[in-house]
Amino acid sequence: MRIDCLAQIDSLERRRIQARVRWEEVDRPPYDLFFEVDRRFGKALALGPHPFLVGCVIPALHFGERRLAIEGDVCAELLDNVGEAQRILSQWYSPGQPRSLSIEPEGVFDHRMDKRGRRRGVFFSGGIDSYAVLRLNRLRFPGAHPRSFKDGVLVFGLEQDDPGKFDLTVQALGPAAEQAGLSLLPVYTNIYLPFRGEDSTKGFELWGKKLGGSALAAVGHALTNRLWGVSIGASQDLATLEPWGTHPLLDPLFGSSDMEVRHEGLSFSRVERTRLVAGWKPALRCLRVCNKYRTYSRSALNCGACEKCVRTMLTLLSMDALKDTDAFPVKDVTPEMIHRHVYIHRDPGELIPGYQEIIPGLERIGRTDLVAAIRRSIIRARLKVVRRLLGRFASACLARAGNAKLETTSKIRETGTARKGQPRSVEGASSVVTGEAGAKQRPAFKREFDERFRHAG
Ligand SMILES: [Zn+2]
Repeated sequence: MRIDCLAQIDSLERRRIQARVRWEEVDRPPYDLFFEVDRRFGKALALGPHPFLVGCVIPALHFGERRLAIEGDVCAELLDNVGEAQRILSQWYSPGQPRSLSIEPEGVFDHRMDKRGRRRGVFFSGGIDSYAVLRLNRLRFPGAHPRSFKDGVLVFGLEQDDPGKFDLTVQALGPAAEQAGLSLLPVYTNIYLPFRGEDSTKGFELWGKKLGGSALAAVGHALTNRLWGVSIGASQDLATLEPWGTHPLLDPLFGSSDMEVRHEGLSFSRVERTRLVAGWKPALRCLRVCNKYRTYSRSALNCGACEKCVRTMLTLLSMDALKDTDAFPVKDVTPEMIHRHVYIHRDPGELIPGYQEIIPGLERIGRTDLVAAIRRSIIRARLKVVRRLLGRFASACLARAGNAKLETTSKIRETGTARKGQPRSVEGASSVVTGEAGAKQRPAFKREFDERFRHAG
């Protein structure tokens, strides 16, 4: 991959920094990667190679480039960090087959961070995780402290790609951010958009497993004229931590000597984070947990009917706080809503512990109807997973049996008809069971089973 033609472009409403991205090994179209802000935040943008390097390194690695050559000088610390991040990803997703890109800048510079005149930002989506780290920050640091968050960075081009719906989000979150002492700083980028359609057909593997943290860090690097550090709210917790695109091991490695990237809130469980939010008026005033952004309207950012909405409503209800927010279309949850919308089987390793954590609170307020509905959903999820795994196991057995039959036939063809009473092609059957394909299938099955139930209790 080659990245060059770095440029700053001003329009009437926005300021943009951009670079030309060309693929060298992979047959993909070139594109201009950009980061853009409203003109009132124009001075925040810093034109340099770092945001483009951090924004492109994971896609280049994912799609099979061998190097990333970039115009300009790159900080030695960032180069070292990105190498470490690649090694971690390689050990997570291709153990035994290390893959990494050679990063080739025009030069390397040594630098010491200067925080003077700059602020600290937090990625602020309006969801539970970002409000929780913001609340923790407010509780832990006085306003004059350098670690006190001053800007809430909201990014277009990641999970949202509809400008109209993004404007609704900005309008809704602006006052809530202001009440929490943050300036809402919208940033527009196409960092993920060239891959989003393709990635959606593959279960968002690139975004979910690899790109999330580095994409946010790249946005932070684009803002180094205004920010010296950015914080990313943890989306997992310690009990369910597993390899993921935004991760406490990975995110800080996309920082440089000029931009500190922190992954925060990991030691708080989902319910503990929601408790931080439930006791805080600015957060309850405008919560945005729903990812179904196409359903957003001026009056509602949460559909109230998807799994994420229902789970958040249940958690708030268990704390007697659902009545205090207008963020959802209704102020109660029914067993029917759980039955219809809570699809725990899609991610049982993470969701089962999450729902189990909600149950004691619901029992305390006497909502045994909801507890029973959650338990039914958990059983249903476990049965679905077991059924799916058994189906795969049966398919693997049938495939092995088919291979054994084929090998037996070919063995007979090679050695002539088997003698009466002698087992047919013992060697052939044995090679299928103990051969390479069988060895790969068994651990894969076992691995998935272990993953599905690792946290399921
Ligand atoms: Zn929803």
